[in-house]
Amino acid sequence: MAIERTLSIIKPDAVAKNVIGKIYDRFESNGLKIVAAQMKQLSRAEAEGFYAVHKERPFFNDLVSFMISGPVMIQVLEGENAVLKHRDLMGATDPKKAEPGTIRADFAESIDANAVHGSDSLENAAIEIAYFFAASQIAR
Ligand code: UDP
Repeated sequence: MAIERTLSIIKPDAVAKNVIGKIYDRFESNGLKIVAAQMKQLSRAEAEGFYAVHKERPFFNDLVSFMISGPVMIQVLEGENAVLKHRDLMGATDPKKAEPGTIRADFAESIDANAVHGSDSLENAAIEIAYFFAASQIAR
């Protein structure tokens, strides 16, 4: 299996709940290594750019407002099959539908305040990592 990198964001709801460490433990206990991290208050323009693929979706404005409602914790995760492994650990977008034991089932309240973001493909992972990190900021 290939070693991959993926982008993870702990969203404002989970940062406010003080569960960054608990979420990091899920990553580290499941073979994902944190190779870069930054806590950041996103600007509206930054959040809009990050979610540009969703621009036409009805929830876009609410999503952007939520993502700038407080600081986020952004990290690059590295490991075998990292993109899919991370998505599995996150659980379904709607926490009510997320498998028990997943991050969203355990820490998220609703489909819009759903604790975490994770890249959905290797191609998008590369784009999303480059959106927030220079190559020199990632451990090697
Ligand atoms: N979202 C929302 N309402 C919806 C669908 C999505 O607020 O009906 C938000 C939610 O925060 C989600 C993000 O938009 O995490 C991106 O949606 P996507 O379908 O890509 O879900 P994800 O990949 O995050 O599971």
